[in-house]
Amino acid sequence: MKRYGAIEGGGTKFVCAVGTSPQDVCAEVRFPTTTPEETLGRAIAFFRENGPVAGLGVACFGPLDPNPASPMFGHILATPKPGWKNADVVGTLQQAFDIPIAFDTDVNGAALAEARWGAAQGCDPVLYLTIGTGIGGGVMVNGRLLHGLLHPEMGHILLPRDHQADPFAGACPFHGDCFEGLASGPALEKRWGAKAETLPPDHPAWDLEAQYIALALVSYILTLSPQRIVLGGGVMQQAHMLPRVRRKVQALLNGYVQMPQVQGEIETYIVLPGLGAQAGVLGALALAMQER
Ligand code: ADP
Ligand code: ZN
Repeated sequence: MKRYGAIEGGGTKFVCAVGTSPQDVCAEVRFPTTTPEETLGRAIAFFRENGPVAGLGVACFGPLDPNPASPMFGHILATPKPGWKNADVVGTLQQAFDIPIAFDTDVNGAALAEARWGAAQGCDPVLYLTIGTGIGGGVMVNGRLLHGLLHPEMGHILLPRDHQADPFAGACPFHGDCFEGLASGPALEKRWGAKAETLPPDHPAWDLEAQYIALALVSYILTLSPQRIVLGGGVMQQAHMLPRVRRKVQALLNGYVQMPQVQGEIETYIVLPGLGAQAGVLGALALAMQER
């Protein structure tokens, strides 16, 4: 059986692995994200040692260009991360390995992996949303990952809000109070003056947080018509959040979408990732194995 290489490119760490499936991931290595030269150099050294692989998948922080027909394909775009703006990730890897290289966002990779092996098997479209340091969404439609101008930027949508109930100006450097600016982990910390993981379950932060997440999900449900929504990221590790979000989604939809998934069976519709901490690297593996 062919083995594939997976690179999870995160803002703080890179994870590289070789494998064929979640049950068969071997030779995993992780190292901090430093300069593109050093970081990609370590990845290349890893695959030289642990290869050969039939193809590589890179599931990476963005924004990035995932369109193979574009001159900027394989590059990171306007990231504030020092040294990475316009970094040529695929070009650097391609110089070392003459094999197919798939390149997409971390959340698109996670959507594909959850559909293939995780909590969204048999569903299409699938939406994977992470609520962590940033907020981002990946979407699989008709078995393919959604691209277009570039890729979805679902964390930066604008939401209706009550400025009296929540006067916080927002934390997004581009938009202030977009979804990410209101509801990412750092936004919670900035608004409430304490790390999100230290806020108790009865803190008012959580009801407001669930409201913003539910408002966003309702927009995605009404525009993409996903068959399942997978919510990942550190903030969703608060066990009380998922039930709150489900209830608020139902309240906002108000019976309009007449499907059991959003009525009596919402526990099967808005779910946590099935692949847990492995979602990132398995996302990259799924990209490598995707038929293109
Ligand atoms: P990243 O988005 O960088 O990949 P995470 O998904 O872990 O990583 O998100 C990190 C953010 O999530 C931080 O802002 C952190 O405060 C928040 N976070 C992490 N764990 C929890 C938790 N158990 N409860 C609430 N917030 C959390
Ligand atoms: Zn924004």
